[in-house]
Amino acid sequence: MSIEQNLKNIRISLPESVTLVAVSKTKPNTDLQEAYEAGQRIFGENKVQEMVQKWETLPTDIQWHMIGHLQRNKVKYMAEFVSLIHGVDSFRLLKEIDKQAKKHDRVIDCLLQMHIAEEATKFGLNEDELFDIIQSEEFSALENINIVGLMGMSTFTEDQTQIRREFKQLKSIYTSLQERIEDLNVLSMGMSGDYQIAIEEGSNMVRIGSSIFGERNTH
Ligand SMILES: *Cc1c(COP(=O)(O)O)cnc(C)c1O
Repeated sequence: MSIEQNLKNIRISLPESVTLVAVSKTKPNTDLQEAYEAGQRIFGENKVQEMVQKWETLPTDIQWHMIGHLQRNKVKYMAEFVSLIHGVDSFRLLKEIDKQAKKHDRVIDCLLQMHIAEEATKFGLNEDELFDIIQSEEFSALENINIVGLMGMSTFTEDQTQIRREFKQLKSIYTSLQERIEDLNVLSMGMSGDYQIAIEEGSNMVRIGSSIFGERNTH
């Protein structure tokens, strides 16, 4: 099926309150252009260099989301244009984003990434680390970042009960964080294989790649 048709099918299945991030990592510009022509404006990438190259050639009204694990020394390359960073998992990274955003006179929206999966390999904060960050004085001094929500990835498993339990857990952290951060309004959870469960559990932003663009050859 075409990218346009895939997008249509997914949009039909999404409630209006859910934002679709089209995850275009590893895909050529022609694929992104096709999605753009079908009305898609938000794209997610997981490598800074690749995102910069795509930003330089594709239409300027695209909103670029960084969804991957981020190294501090790469933040400077995208600080000028990135619209949302999903994978913030340390205070040091947050400080670097703040510093680079300041150079461009911007405030960059960020999501804190929570570790909800069973696998030790998935990045993210635990609840203690999250509250340590947002309660610190240093955090309140950062003026060029804005925490707008949380992001998480479930365990790669067939066990739907486990996936649901992990999303529930993230939603519950999100709800308790809302009491401390006023303009928290993004809960980024759900990918091609599990976005329906994620939405049932309260997601309002899904990151979908292979169901739009087809399988990837590489990660
Ligand atoms: C690749 C990726 C996705 C999209 O995965 P699909 O299974 O292709 O939909 C979503 N979120 C993150 C963080 C990713 O790295």
